[in-house]
Amino acid sequence: MSLISKWGGLLWKEETVAKMYSKIERLKQFIVFFIEKYQPVCGLCGGEVSWKSFFPVLSHMIRDEFTIHHKNHIRKDNRPINKAIVHRDCHRRHHRNLQVLKETGQKIIKYSCYENIAGKFTKEVMKIPSERI
Ligand SMILES: [Zn+2]
Ligand SMILES: [Zn+2]
Repeated sequence: MSLISKWGGLLWKEETVAKMYSKIERLKQFIVFFIEKYQPVCGLCGGEVSWKSFFPVLSHMIRDEFTIHHKNHIRKDNRPINKAIVHRDCHRRHHRNLQVLKETGQKIIKYSCYENIAGKFTKEVMKIPSERI
């Protein structure tokens, strides 16, 4: 008969907690694998994405520093080519800056979007119609 463990304010069977931890450890290995292999960068500043920044989320239940940005600003367009991993700070700044530009009457807004896939670094200029900002 397994013991009961208190975790996250709830009571769990110890074997359940052990299984959850081993799943998390597996997930961590996949995060390290994909980030080391594909070396993604922030789509808005071009900065490095470290696998270390994802681990606090799993181990301490706090938010990581990344989010997904839709390059053409159409949130329903979930094609991989339209999505970029970006720092939350860069993301907030980007949308705020575009809002300011829109308020000053610009019709088409351009911005740079960075990508790095397994060592192939690219910079793409995105054009967004003002109704999509
Ligand atoms: Zn960034
Ligand atoms: Zn966005």
